[in-house]
Amino acid sequence: MTRIFSGVKPTGHLTLGNYLGAVRQWVAASGEGRADDAVYCVVDLHALTVEHDPARVRRLSRQAVTVLLAAGLDPQRCTLFLQSHVDEHTRLSYLLECTAADGELRRMIQYREKAAKAQEAGDGVRLSLLTYPVLMAADILAYRTDEVPVGEDQRQHVELTRDLAVRFNQRYGPTFTVPKATHPAVAARVMDLQDPTSKMGKSHDATAGIVYLLDEPEVVTRKVMRAVTDNEGGVVHDREARPGAANLLDILAACTGGDPVELAAGYSGYGALKRDVAEAVVEMLRPVRERHAELAADPGAVEKVLRTGAERARAIARPVVDRAYEAIGL
Ligand code: ADP
Repeated sequence: MTRIFSGVKPTGHLTLGNYLGAVRQWVAASGEGRADDAVYCVVDLHALTVEHDPARVRRLSRQAVTVLLAAGLDPQRCTLFLQSHVDEHTRLSYLLECTAADGELRRMIQYREKAAKAQEAGDGVRLSLLTYPVLMAADILAYRTDEVPVGEDQRQHVELTRDLAVRFNQRYGPTFTVPKATHPAVAARVMDLQDPTSKMGKSHDATAGIVYLLDEPEVVTRKVMRAVTDNEGGVVHDREARPGAANLLDILAACTGGDPVELAAGYSGYGALKRDVAEAVVEMLRPVRERHAELAADPGAVEKVLRTGAERARAIARPVVDRAYEAIGL
C-alpha cells in the first residue's frame, strides 16, 4: 500500500491553482483502493497562523470540504476530515518542535514572505507562522505517509518533514515513514493572472488575478481575458521572459492534457489564446460548480462526512503518535 496525505488551508475560497496543483491529483489517486490509502485534510489550524475571522474560518472549512466533494472526492474511498477534529496533529507537533531547530524554520521561504507581509500590514508575526511547517510535518508523519501530492510551493516544507522524520528516527529509533513529495507534470505552479511572477494564492487580497473554483463562467472569462501578458510578437512559452503567456499556456495544457510548448505554436496572438483558456477553464469547472450547489443544500451530510473522516483518521494516527511519545521518553 502507498499512503497519500495532502491538505488544503481554509484561508480563502479554493482557486484554480489549488485544483490543478493538488485537488485534481487527489481525486485521481483516490479512485481505487481502500479508504485509508488516501488521507485528505482541511488544515484549519494552519488558517490561524495569520490574521483571521473565527466565523469565516469555520465557514470556509466547511466550504472547502464541500468543494472537495464536488470536485469528485468520494468519502467512501478516502479519509476526508478537519485537522482540528483530530488531536494527534498538535500532540505530535510538539514532539517535532523538540526535534526542529529555530534556524531551519526561519529559512523557510513562505515564512519569510508571509512574515514580511504581516509586518507591513502592522499585524505582528504570530509564533505559529514560524512553527507552521512543523505542524505540517506532524500532519504528514502521523499517517505514516509515503507520498505527498502538492504544488511546487510546498516542496521546501516536505523536505523539512523528511529531515525531521530522519532525525527523529535516528535519535529515538524507527518511528516514522519518510515521505516524498510528488508534483503534477504540468501546472505545478499556477501563477496570478495579474502578477504572473507570483503564485495564484487563495489568501491574496487582490482577487482580479485569481480564478476561484466557484466563480461564475462570466467572471472566469473576464479574469482570463484581462490577464497580463506582454507586447512581444507571437506566442512563445518562456517562463522567464514571458511569464504571463507561459502561465496561460500551462493552464491550457493542464486543462486539455496538451503540451504547453506545442500549444504555443498554434497561436499567433493573445486574443485567441485567452479565449481558448477561458473556455477550457469554464468547461472544466462547470461540473464542480453544479455539484457544489447540490451539496451545499445539505450541510448535515457534510458534517456526517467529517465525523466519519475524523474517526478514521484518529484510528490511523493514534498508534503512530503514541509510539512517538514512547520513543522520545514520555
Ligand atoms: P494556498 O496557497 O492557496 O493557500 P494551500 O497552502 O492551501 O494553498 O495549498 C493547498 C494545495 O494547493 C497544496 O498542495 C499547494 O501546493 C497547492 N497549490 C496552492 N496554490 C497553488 C498554485 N498557485 N499552483 C499550484 N498548486 C498550488
